[in-house]
Amino acid sequence: MTKRISAKEWRNSQSRGNKFGAKKVKHCPTCGFTHDSKVEARRCVYLHDLVKAGVFAHVDVHPVVTLAHGIKWRLDFAVYAPESSGGGMCYEDVKGGPETEGFKLKRKMFNAVHPMARLHAVRWDRSMKKWITST
Ligand SMILES: [Zn+2]
Repeated sequence: MTKRISAKEWRNSQSRGNKFGAKKVKHCPTCGFTHDSKVEARRCVYLHDLVKAGVFAHVDVHPVVTLAHGIKWRLDFAVYAPESSGGGMCYEDVKGGPETEGFKLKRKMFNAVHPMARLHAVRWDRSMKKWITST
């Protein structure tokens, strides 16, 4: 039996491919993992370049955090600062477009369980040609 999807679901799946360029990148040459989008793969290269440059100590790809009720949430990256600059880390989720309601809700849940942790939404601004990180 063929699984039918609604027109809205179809449209969403289409726009995700075209509008945000969310084509999966398999076996990323930098980390070996699969990224959900080209922009995520590009961020992966960027972060690992900063590790090479000594700006960051380490980058985790696809860290999993726990929300309330044991719900697991897979984020895109966890970035660790070097000990020499005080250490510390933050999580990153790369966005191909505006932050979705789903993301906002999960971030609220995340902040409730991990009030001291930092989580940034990151997106590539095409016109300014730079990464924009939400606070
Ligand atoms: Zn990668």
